[in-house]
Amino acid sequence: MRTLISNIGVVVTGDIDAPIADADSIFVEDGRIAAIGRGLQADGATIIDAKGTTAFPGLIDSHAHPVFGDFTPRQQTMNFIESGLHGGVTTVISAGEVHLPGRPKDVVGLKALAIVAAKSWAALRPAGVKVHGGAPILELGLEEHDFAEMAAGGVRLVGEIGLGSVKTGAQAAPMVAWAKQHGMTVTFHTGGPSIAGSNPIAADAVLEAQPHIVGHVNGGTTPMSDADIARVIEQSDMAIEIVHCGNGRAALHALAIAAAAGALGRVIIGNDAPSGTGVVPLGILRTMAHLASLGDIAPELVVAMATGNTARVHKLDVGVLAVGRAADIALVDAPVGSSAASALDALRAGDLPGVSMVLIDGAVAIGRSRNTPPAGRAAEVVGGGGPAAGGH
Ligand SMILES: [Zn+2]
Repeated sequence: MRTLISNIGVVVTGDIDAPIADADSIFVEDGRIAAIGRGLQADGATIIDAKGTTAFPGLIDSHAHPVFGDFTPRQQTMNFIESGLHGGVTTVISAGEVHLPGRPKDVVGLKALAIVAAKSWAALRPAGVKVHGGAPILELGLEEHDFAEMAAGGVRLVGEIGLGSVKTGAQAAPMVAWAKQHGMTVTFHTGGPSIAGSNPIAADAVLEAQPHIVGHVNGGTTPMSDADIARVIEQSDMAIEIVHCGNGRAALHALAIAAAAGALGRVIIGNDAPSGTGVVPLGILRTMAHLASLGDIAPELVVAMATGNTARVHKLDVGVLAVGRAADIALVDAPVGSSAASALDALRAGDLPGVSMVLIDGAVAIGRSRNTPPAGRAAEVVGGGGPAAGGH
């Protein structure tokens, strides 16, 4: 399968060190980006005319709470993952399957849930979206061999620490070390509890435990103190996660601290939905617009926070428009009626870009989004093999 996207206005790479490519075309072969450049040609390929719009990597939601299938028990909503695809999200990372009704909290039960969720999500792609699930909530009593067993069962994540009985730095630190030893990527919940029954967590616990990711540094929904936000950024090299369903002022505070510390490459963006805040299909785009318009950060860097930065933390082959990467691509433009003329300018102005096409592994997953405002210009399949058929 060969696809050529031509007439791209701006190629935003998702690589924070080289965020814009000198290119107007992307050539995709067998689901991967085979070339990026100017005036590329490809005989026999499906041709997509981007109509001068902007290419982003498919967005990565670093913090979601799926359970099984495209249904959330938290808000009794069907097809929320497919709905998020209409907000440009092509990869979703579970921060814990906490909303499973009757979720087991004993060691055997939590291991079983993590393994089943990891295997289920490895075998299922709602609407083509790549969901990484199987993120156990740590409970007291877990031992090193439990992490080995989960890893052997396909578990690659640890759900946000603090939602279970493991809450302090001292309790978490040995478990984080075991999880890392077995190849898992670890997130620690920070700030006030999202729901009755869990506890507030501040900087000391996170700095002691040394997870990979400071979960929702701007709260999910209530953040740590401003001083503690500064400490976790300045006194560590952990990834700093900003979420939609958190505190908007604290998000800007964290962003300013990260910028001053030269740490924008560590900032990643999540939704933290489904949650009490709701199911928010445009949560990642809304956070990007918030940070780009009020945070005084170039929008192409904010795109990297929602793509390449997250891919680096989780060692994923998505999130960057570069040769060899999976061809997960969103074609976006300023929305109709915006004062801006391009997707990046729209973000700078605080507007949500309109999504007119999303490709996953080089296949067209959706055309015009039903959730974003309409893109001013819309990409179109104009020739060759016709719309690429989904291969999943
Ligand atoms: Zn949380």
